[in-house]
Amino acid sequence: MTEKLRRYEDWARACMHVRCGLCRENCPAYGQMKLDSYSAKGKVTMLYHWLEGSLEPSEKMAERVFACTSCGLCDIACGYPQSEAIQEMKIALFDAGIFPSAQYSRISEHTRRAGNPYGETPETGQQLLKAIPEASAENAEYLLFFGCTEIYRGAPQRESVLKILRSAGIPFKTPSENICCGSPVYRVGDLEQATIQAKSVQSMVKNIGIDQVIASCSGCYRTLSHDYSTLLRTDPGFRTIHTVQLIDRLIKEGTIRMRRMNAKVTYHDPCHLGRHSGIYEEPREILRSIPGVSFVEMEWNRKFSRCCGAGGGLRSARGEDAIEIASRRVKEAEETGASLLVTACPFCLRNLEDGAKSIGSSIKVCAIESLVANLIE
Ligand code: SF4
Ligand code: SF4
Repeated sequence: MTEKLRRYEDWARACMHVRCGLCRENCPAYGQMKLDSYSAKGKVTMLYHWLEGSLEPSEKMAERVFACTSCGLCDIACGYPQSEAIQEMKIALFDAGIFPSAQYSRISEHTRRAGNPYGETPETGQQLLKAIPEASAENAEYLLFFGCTEIYRGAPQRESVLKILRSAGIPFKTPSENICCGSPVYRVGDLEQATIQAKSVQSMVKNIGIDQVIASCSGCYRTLSHDYSTLLRTDPGFRTIHTVQLIDRLIKEGTIRMRRMNAKVTYHDPCHLGRHSGIYEEPREILRSIPGVSFVEMEWNRKFSRCCGAGGGLRSARGEDAIEIASRRVKEAEETGASLLVTACPFCLRNLEDGAKSIGSSIKVCAIESLVANLIE
């Protein structure tokens, strides 16, 4: 039991007494598993009894806690940052060696052994990064940070980001070594390894000598720009921007122009970029600026956006559940009549693509960087 968990005792007690249950609405874990113990209310109730000594932490408790995708939607419904308490529960359970299944501990084992959550041979990533011409760029103003999903799983999006930055004449450099930002291990409670990853990235950026980092993975962006000050207990010494912020600026400056595309398009807010970082407008501005695009919102958007189901280790550990959650988000996109569902995170992208495939949807799922790169004049 960590002292940090005690901070949430009053909230947990308050929740026990009000019994409102507002956090259930749209909670992906509750919506999928259909049991109260998967909602934020269920988890903080377990926390309350854990703190009172009337409930021992167990694998069954961990199974509920780790099913949380870290989406943060319950925080909006509740008013208390319940996802923060759930994150601390994950850390305490991880420290006690209590996991629901090996699939969760594997994310941590892979990162500790291979340096990436997928367990891919690190040399593959290093070779790929070293082959990018900008790895040897000099006098660059920006460092383009690729996350593990972009390196090991997301070739089209990676190439799109490179194309946009080159077309716009952005002076950028890419790192020649792959260091995971630490987000996947942090979301499964491995605070120690997340801190090691944060220190490694901080030292890599410092050695390169650039203090402006570009990230196109929303998980990397949130971790570098928000979580590092907690993990490192100090400012990391660099500023991070997401590709949507840069692209939006380049369009407004007239540096990049896009061809016409007649299509109805909708947008999925990645939880890490939207709710956790407050970046809602830039991707919408980009889509609205494409000649011929008719932009439509899904019913649940911006801070109320439903989660795609991939986060918190759910996609890696319980792939079928994650894909079913994604398929419900795809159905919501279909209801808008859009033919294209755009997002700004490679992890959301993969899960939504699988969700669309699982229900035979005709909607095309696309990364915002790929859309822009294809239309750039
Ligand atoms: S919304 Fe907040 S107070 Fe209400 S049940 Fe959920 S966690 Fe408890
Ligand atoms: S963070 Fe998301 S998945 Fe976790 S309990 Fe809250 S709403 Fe549910």
